Amino acid sequence: MPRSLSAPTATAVLLIVTLAPPVALPQEGPPPGDPDPALAGPRWLKGNLHTHSLWSDGNDYPEMIVDWYARNGYHFLALSDHNVLAQGQAWMGVKEANRRARHDGFARYRRRFGDAWVETRTEEGGLRVRLKPLGEYRTLFERPGQFLLIQGEEITDHFERKPIHMNATNVLEVIGPQGGGSVVEVMTNDLAAVEEQARRLGRPILGHLNHPNFGHAITAEELAMVTKERFFEVYNGHPEAHHLGDETHVGVERMWDIINTLRIGEMKADPVLGLATDDSHNYFGHGGSTPGRGWVMVRGRFLTPESVIRAIEAGDFYASSGVTLQEVRYSPEDRTLTLAVDPRGDARYTVRFIGTLRGYDPARKPVTDKDGHPLPVTRRYSDDVGKVLATVEGAGATYRLTGEELYVRAVVTSDRPPANPSFQGQKAQAWTQPVGWERRIAPPAAAIAPRRPEIRKLGTIDLDLVEATPVVFGDRLYRFESVRKGYKANTTGDSYFRFIDVETGKATPAFARGHDLGSAHAEGGSMWAFGVDRRDGTRIVAFRSDDLERWETIPALELPGWGLFNTSVCKAGDRYVMAIEVGSPPEVVGVPFTSRFAESQDLRSWKLLPEDRVFTKDWYSACPTIRHLDGSDYLTYLETLPGPRYETFIVRSKDLIRWESSPLNPVLVASEQDRAIANPKLTADQRGEVAGAVDRNNSDVDFCEFRGRTVITYSWGNQQGTEFLAEAVHEGPLAGFLKGFFP
Ligand SMILES: [Zn+2]
Ligand SMILES: [Zn+2]
Repeated sequence: MPRSLSAPTATAVLLIVTLAPPVALPQEGPPPGDPDPALAGPRWLKGNLHTHSLWSDGNDYPEMIVDWYARNGYHFLALSDHNVLAQGQAWMGVKEANRRARHDGFARYRRRFGDAWVETRTEEGGLRVRLKPLGEYRTLFERPGQFLLIQGEEITDHFERKPIHMNATNVLEVIGPQGGGSVVEVMTNDLAAVEEQARRLGRPILGHLNHPNFGHAITAEELAMVTKERFFEVYNGHPEAHHLGDETHVGVERMWDIINTLRIGEMKADPVLGLATDDSHNYFGHGGSTPGRGWVMVRGRFLTPESVIRAIEAGDFYASSGVTLQEVRYSPEDRTLTLAVDPRGDARYTVRFIGTLRGYDPARKPVTDKDGHPLPVTRRYSDDVGKVLATVEGAGATYRLTGEELYVRAVVTSDRPPANPSFQGQKAQAWTQPVGWERRIAPPAAAIAPRRPEIRKLGTIDLDLVEATPVVFGDRLYRFESVRKGYKANTTGDSYFRFIDVETGKATPAFARGHDLGSAHAEGGSMWAFGVDRRDGTRIVAFRSDDLERWETIPALELPGWGLFNTSVCKAGDRYVMAIEVGSPPEVVGVPFTSRFAESQDLRSWKLLPEDRVFTKDWYSACPTIRHLDGSDYLTYLETLPGPRYETFIVRSKDLIRWESSPLNPVLVASEQDRAIANPKLTADQRGEVAGAVDRNNSDVDFCEFRGRTVITYSWGNQQGTEFLAEAVHEGPLAGFLKGFFP
């Protein structure tokens, strides 16, 4: 989170510093409670960042709540009411407050703070009591170095019926729920509002995602995608936080490992760190969400909002539901994670080191309903994700990293329940933050450049064209094009295929009339093209020519009852392999679209490979392009992401069954360079269309090697029919390009 002052503020400060006369430091007076700043060493500070009061839906007065925390060993507390800050005038009916408390909470409040403090007035509806603003009541409690109140807010948002709540700690101005078109967008927008305020006001504000399983609102994949969100509640004391999950929904701790495996292993992004909070609402001791269940222990030097938040941002804290640690320390030099429990009574402790190792099984499956339809919940991941790497019985433990870990974290579990459990069978725990991941995520730009195959986008070459294959024939570079019926220059009234001589721009005669979604493959002195009889059709047809003018038509494969789309063909050792994009039937494709595979000895007659040769029934994976290198099949495909947007990813496999996803994915994403004009023949009107079009995909990527470079074609547009054909280049051979995605 940016902490630098904005330029005008910085100037103002500078002026003050320059113009103010030197002031002698006070020599006398009572010493401050905080350590002398010059000497302050780090110490553990206990705090709760998620608390509700009568300012929103809590059932007690803020002073009563703060009083409880101040007397129960906490150093800091944030009251975080829903979409409101405790500021200004607010009056509440005493009857209503008591009804909510199911006690005479007002009397208890008066007893504790006295009539001189408690403000009331009588209105038509009866006695009303003033809810004190933070600025007023904080003076009763705050003591330097001992107790600090931080202003918080629970930004209370939703997408459709899903509650999406995010705490902003150290806010100065209320942040309204920002909304959005998806769960991911809502989280992104709310976090952006937090960052905006932090930047504008020049103060650290911590935005942490609350209770992902409350209302089962947020999946691990969704939180993983919001890579700017670095904090969430691994434990929330509210009984409706569904900490353990159920048959359909993963528990919150497992969710944490899934998120961090996706973040570190696949997205090269910072992991999420885990907080524990109370989310307390009920202060009268009879059920509900009561205080004292979850907290963070932050290693900070000063008891200030800035020091606390910076320590949390640095990961120097742990979350607790009842276990206290004397020490937790990660030494990057020795690659050791060491912790020591502060034992209580005769409780016994188990320390588990949990992490995901490099080369983990990335398999994931959607959870389905009884009819086999995927549910919008966190997918099921292999046991490699978040596995127990070591277990130590006792109050202290050290784990030495082997170098294979994507990350490691520790969880300490007592054999005793916490004083005030939030679910049945709960044991007191402490969760430390993931370590050892730093070198797994994106290194500095200078270091990443040689690793990632560089793609230079050249720009748009045509409109209303999507399926194309660059292909070399007789030492000339051609571009195979699948011309759609609606293509502007198509006057034939039907779809067809053609080749463009890239150097001269000359097109070959049209062939394959009525066919769609084609691709090309050159072999010896023959050119081959493949296509479907129609989009969503059942037949794949091959076309062969020695001169690109006269074409032989060969029925290649028929799959009755299926819906077929794109194809791609390559030579794979002593056979040929075809990737086939399939959209139906559901039992074949799972989540559409899905690639199945066929093989051939002669490119003419094709045999469908068994159903275990597939990529993938588990999620959307469209428009495959396949190439074979050194025993592996490399497959690029279209992945769908929230927004929606569509990006091209690459995977590879030795058997077409188990697939390895590139850690450098995505291969291509929509960007401004798509709109560059790479074809001087485009008219002014066409250029206007390019400039004004929606760009949310980079799809239908295909490539070949020509004179030592990798020539790439791809399509961009709105993924709904307004699409453009574009070109890109990788300055190196195709083998290096494909293998380069698997360092
Ligand atoms: Zn909430
Ligand atoms: Zn809450």
